[in-house]
Amino acid sequence: MKSTKKVSNVSDLTSRDRNSIWHHISPYNVKNPPMVVEEGKGSWITDAQGNRYLDGMSGLWCVNVGYGREELALAAYEQIKKLAYAPMTMSHEPAIELAEKVNEMLDDDYMIFYSNSGSDANEVAFKMARQYHRQNGEVDRHKFISRYRAYHGSSMGALSATGQSMRKYKYEPLIQGFLHVSPPDNYRKPDSITEEDYNLQRAEELENTIIWEQKETIAAVIMEPVITGGGVLIPHPIYVEKVQEICHRHGVLLIIDEVICGFGRTGKKFGHQHFGIKPDIVTMAKGLTSAYLPLSITAVRKDIYETFKNGDDTSHFRHVNTFGGNPAACALALKNIEIMEHENLYERSAESGDKLLQGLDDLKNHPFVGNLRGIGMIVGIELVEDKTTKEPASKERLAKIISDCKDNGLIIGKNGDTVAGYNNILTLSPPLSSSEEDVEFMI
Ligand code: PLP
Repeated sequence: MKSTKKVSNVSDLTSRDRNSIWHHISPYNVKNPPMVVEEGKGSWITDAQGNRYLDGMSGLWCVNVGYGREELALAAYEQIKKLAYAPMTMSHEPAIELAEKVNEMLDDDYMIFYSNSGSDANEVAFKMARQYHRQNGEVDRHKFISRYRAYHGSSMGALSATGQSMRKYKYEPLIQGFLHVSPPDNYRKPDSITEEDYNLQRAEELENTIIWEQKETIAAVIMEPVITGGGVLIPHPIYVEKVQEICHRHGVLLIIDEVICGFGRTGKKFGHQHFGIKPDIVTMAKGLTSAYLPLSITAVRKDIYETFKNGDDTSHFRHVNTFGGNPAACALALKNIEIMEHENLYERSAESGDKLLQGLDDLKNHPFVGNLRGIGMIVGIELVEDKTTKEPASKERLAKIISDCKDNGLIIGKNGDTVAGYNNILTLSPPLSSSEEDVEFMI
């Protein structure tokens, strides 16, 4: 039973929230005020009324090691006592150690640039790509190509790269020079061709865009290894290999956005490691600290970095941010990676993800489930009104399922693009540390 004191405390918090906080991407909805969360432990969070929920989205696809890790709090605490801050114009041991560790995870060819968020990391990648080409004498290479349905962040450059019109159209015009191509959506491919051919066609569309736009004007392609927030679109491996080959052939840099896919989310350290490619730039955030503190990284191939060292005063990268590489965030990130290694969370993500998918397999027989797909601890359930026409399920149907899950103690997500009509994919992205019981509970 919930105490009246607690309930009145909660309604007080809710009304204070209503008067003070402008929430992220939430429609103002009096009937459904945002949940006030009080505690988190493992995969579970507790609201201010004492209700427990399994957080099937680990926040925003980010609390990879689960909630309530005292070691992480201690790592930050000890570091703050010793040295709370140093700008990245200087250096400090946690930043150096973390750079070495991440580089080792990427197979040792990269330099590490610190920022605060996934959006920041992508902005840095765009600026580096443009400057790199300019310094190499290819002054016209300024355009970026990304995919429709992908999300790359909310700042103006990252939003320009984003391929979801619902997030963009109220803020246009955005930054010039961002182009989009279709992603492989294997569920919706024409029946007449194989998955492999269809994926090759998508890569060909990218290559045609590079050629038609004049390849000398293209700076980079940015893509997630698996489109996550755009509806869990898992490419055929041939697509990713082909995209890399096309980029190399046309002198275009390949930026891989690992903001969600990194740090075990897909069952490997980094999502692109499923495909055997070697990106020019890798961006990462979320799972890097399991979101306990803000930190992001733009990892850049060393030979690209070398071109910024020409010696004159104009060739360095003129970018700074106050908080990037914060010592406490770096110390915490190191501990976070140590936990992942100790508890085999990369492997566990793959195993638990498989169990989750297998356990959900019966859903495929449900009249509204058009497709079930997943990789590591990412699951997408594509809902349709009709399995033959694949008409996306209605907004109301998704809202009802999400609310029913919540009433039964499970938080799930919903992704896609309302404007494009594909906002019909339910998502799960629970902590990688979820126990067998947690997986059973979600099923
Ligand atoms: N890239 C991807 C793939 C993301 O999913 C996100 C956020 O969800 C971002 C970039 C932006 O990260 P942030 O919200 O930390 O700016």
